[in-house]
Amino acid sequence: MTGPTNSIPPASKPAPDAAPAVEERSLNFLEQIVEADNASKKWGTWGAKEPSRADVPQVHTRFPPEPNGYLHVGHAKSICLNSGLAKKYGGKFNLRFDDTNPAKEEQEYVDSIIRDVKWLGGDFDTGPNAGGLYFASNYFEKMYEFTEELVKKGKAYVCQLSGEEVSARRGTPTVPATSPYRDRPVEESLKLLAEMRDGKHPNGAMTVRAKIDLASPNFNLRDPVMYRIIHEHHHNTGDKWSMYPMYDWAHGLEDSMEGITHSICTLEFENHRPLYDWFIDAINEGRGPGSKWGMPIHHPQQIEFAKLRPTYTVMSKRNLLKMVEEKTVTGWDDPRMPTISAMRRRGFPPEALRNFVTDVGVTKVESYIDLSRLENAVRDVLNKTTPRTMSVLKPLKVTIENWPDDKVDELDFVINPEDESAGKRKVPFTKEIYIEQDDFMENPPKKFFRLALGAEVRLRWAYFITCTGVEKDAAGNVIGIRATYDPATRGGDAPVGPDGKPTKKVKGTIHWISAKHAVPAEVRLFDRLFNAEVPGDRTGNYIDDLNPNSLEVVRALVEPWLAENAKYNNETLEGARFQFERLGYFNVDKDSAPGKLVFNRTVTLKDSWAKEAKPGA
Ligand code: ATP
Ligand code: MG
Repeated sequence: MTGPTNSIPPASKPAPDAAPAVEERSLNFLEQIVEADNASKKWGTWGAKEPSRADVPQVHTRFPPEPNGYLHVGHAKSICLNSGLAKKYGGKFNLRFDDTNPAKEEQEYVDSIIRDVKWLGGDFDTGPNAGGLYFASNYFEKMYEFTEELVKKGKAYVCQLSGEEVSARRGTPTVPATSPYRDRPVEESLKLLAEMRDGKHPNGAMTVRAKIDLASPNFNLRDPVMYRIIHEHHHNTGDKWSMYPMYDWAHGLEDSMEGITHSICTLEFENHRPLYDWFIDAINEGRGPGSKWGMPIHHPQQIEFAKLRPTYTVMSKRNLLKMVEEKTVTGWDDPRMPTISAMRRRGFPPEALRNFVTDVGVTKVESYIDLSRLENAVRDVLNKTTPRTMSVLKPLKVTIENWPDDKVDELDFVINPEDESAGKRKVPFTKEIYIEQDDFMENPPKKFFRLALGAEVRLRWAYFITCTGVEKDAAGNVIGIRATYDPATRGGDAPVGPDGKPTKKVKGTIHWISAKHAVPAEVRLFDRLFNAEVPGDRTGNYIDDLNPNSLEVVRALVEPWLAENAKYNNETLEGARFQFERLGYFNVDKDSAPGKLVFNRTVTLKDSWAKEAKPGA
């Protein structure tokens, strides 16, 4: 396992003879901030709010997605970080929909996001760290009141410049921006504000802007727009509003109203932080005991971290949506997509995603991450938890000449060598079996340790067989082979001679399945969706880098035991997971139906991105 990529050096290795310690991870920079805040009691303790942890310092985080698409693996990082901090420090975690733009948001996305956050273990609604489910749109009324307050304080105004005019007047680093409406009387702004609220003006007619600093070197502070007019139906507030708040104005207020302490976001918001702070400071100006504005509002701390940027995929919801709409993929949950729903469908266990996020760590420096690290985390979990089975993806028939026609030998197989409690299962051996086409070569090169004419090989946990003949079709293709078995090798081991050593050795072990008992199944094999490390880098269009061979569908044969246990759970949206020996980890796909088995290959056994794991390799 690779250590966390934060800047703190890992703890030094224990002496070789020291007892194996639980792997200690140094604190990431977010944990360091939280621990420093807790030590200084910056955010106070839970006190009367939470009598059961009255003396515990407050740590309150949130995950604030915009419901404009399905969540991807980058969001998984944010969910794990935020909910993980709440868990670790006895705090709370909120899920909040940042639903401030009616044009792109839909209920379908809200539902999928809730499902994905819960699946990853982000407990916002149950358990000791549940902070609750919130919608930014429920704060619109309150945000409007704060806007009126800022206008009255001379800190905001209604501006009637069009979007183009604002751009044209934004100035340069040395030339300040301008707006002819900046110094209009407060009463005039208040009147127009009320008219905006009442829907009296068309889209684009006016905006509310904060009066900050038209000459600021940080352009975000050059009187940023707080509201624009959008006449559109909203998934939560319906047609009540036709003015909608901008992110910078809304976000800090949402955090403040929920009592968030650490508002964690990605690096692109770093130069928005002065704005985040300005808005809350502006509201708090003049507030206090006896003030007509009331008491100061809570001022959370915004902290930025580097986005998760995986290679060989695209992540922005806009680009993912385009692939869904243009049917480049079968949907948001197409197993090749980088979405959480795709990963669940493909068989990734949620703990593997959590382990991966911990493994890559959290930093302030952007870097690309190879998703093979996520696949390794998936393998680690599946290795411990999945039953082993034998299935054949591309079958080649083998007839065992010296096996009695109707004899069935029921062999005992260990279900999971990593988990004794999983027990054993029966696997039938018969005269006709299938092996993998790739496991046979008529004229093999040196070092081909699988089956070849005249060669002997071990059938996994069954018998040694020797190939005695090859059957071909008219075109010369191998369509079947003949073999003999060695009855003394039952269980897959040669008998031991007088010297205590096995009487013979074979170099190769291959998997197999009884022809009479095999159950047909569709198996979907995946490769990366894109061929380029950074799709679109070359031509500017990520679609140009699509991998045309990212999906291969094969007609496989699976063990009867597997067919019986191949369940799909419609509630959890998870299919049962298995290891197909030598081929990888697979799970039952949602397209399975009675009489029609469909499996996805979750991952190969080895790093499939370095090189495709070949049977027998
Ligand atoms: P996208 O560009 O994919 O639409 P977004 O940032 O617009 O992403 P939001 O719904 O606004 O999506 O994001 C919700 C939260 O997830 C934010 O706090 C954001 O910082 C975080 N987030 C988004 N992408 C990543 C990423 N790649 N790595 C880590 N966190 C991310
Ligand atoms: Mg966003």
